[in-house]
Amino acid sequence: MTSDSQLRVEPTSEPVAPEQRAQIHVEPGFGRFFTDHMVTMKWTPQADWHDGRVHAYGPLLLDPATAALHYAQEVFEGLKAYGHDDGSVWTFRPEVNARRFQRSAHRLALPELPEHLFLDAVDSLVRTDREWVPHGAETSLYIRPFMYASEVFLGVRPAQHVTLCVIASPAGPYFSHGPEPVTIWLSTEYSRAGIGGTGAAKCGGNYAGSLLPQRQAAENGCHQVVFVDSAERTWVEELGGMNLFFVHDDGTLVTPELGGTILEGVTRDSILTLAAEFGLKVDERRVSVEEWRDGVANGQIVEVFACGTAAVITPIGALRWPGGEVVGAVDEAGEVARMLRRRLLDIQYGRAEDPYGWMHRVC
Ligand SMILES: *Cc1c(COP(=O)(O)O)cnc(C)c1O
Repeated sequence: MTSDSQLRVEPTSEPVAPEQRAQIHVEPGFGRFFTDHMVTMKWTPQADWHDGRVHAYGPLLLDPATAALHYAQEVFEGLKAYGHDDGSVWTFRPEVNARRFQRSAHRLALPELPEHLFLDAVDSLVRTDREWVPHGAETSLYIRPFMYASEVFLGVRPAQHVTLCVIASPAGPYFSHGPEPVTIWLSTEYSRAGIGGTGAAKCGGNYAGSLLPQRQAAENGCHQVVFVDSAERTWVEELGGMNLFFVHDDGTLVTPELGGTILEGVTRDSILTLAAEFGLKVDERRVSVEEWRDGVANGQIVEVFACGTAAVITPIGALRWPGGEVVGAVDEAGEVARMLRRRLLDIQYGRAEDPYGWMHRVC
């Protein structure tokens, strides 16, 4: 493929040896190993985006007064590159990530990276490090673009110097033995997002606030935490980093409606589209904790699952809260979760036609 990239490629002089890379590919896990290169690009109001480069992966040298370290003016994205059987490499709906990155940046008063530069940065890194794309079942190269206030200044205002980075990390299958149901902790004490807050932006600060409730979830034997709305403490929103779906016995797929406090997942949106293929009706609306609890107990809700790029679809086996629990009828992934998961993966890995034009060929 020809490249009309605006990024300068400066190959590393010390790439990881092929044998060592092969070793990493045996069991990459998630987010533990990184490829040979990274992308950086700078922004100032005067020069706009400039100095885009693909260069050796390595530590950032940060002045202690770097604004992001103090005021958390930072946003990020997460997407994957998939190796197909013919050796080609593809990303999934990267333009949707590019646009969400712009919305997140807007909310955090960061500059909006033009869509073509986002795609250029991601594609250039994946092309340069294409040997790092794993080819085993359900493996991928996880790509993490992020942008932070790199201005050295302790005054509180939007930074006048911003840095974009893109790094990539080989990822193994999320579930080694097929999707296994998780238990979810209902946080009654803490919120993830409030009206007018940053809940719809993909920013590090949201995650920082979710770590204490996440720790409480673990202390209560749960894998993940689910947050409810901060005003009424009634309406289910999402997990710390995944959106939620409920399958009703009448064939309706229900998901909490967006409204500023929920992150608009690419996986969520794709599932809403795929639902029609399986004859499922979709309903984006408010879902109360009570509806979840009673629905699972009385069989009206037949499946609950969470979704996001990293794990694709994770079945939820039980909901636990201080002093109570409701357990789903089956202790494995439900049929709808399995069908949707299979369908999505078949498109992503090129095993099925892509009728929606979702796949983007990188190299
Ligand atoms: C990234 C993220 C998701 C999932 O989004 P995808 O685009 O499907 O990966 C859901 N919730 C939060 C809070 C997130 O940060």
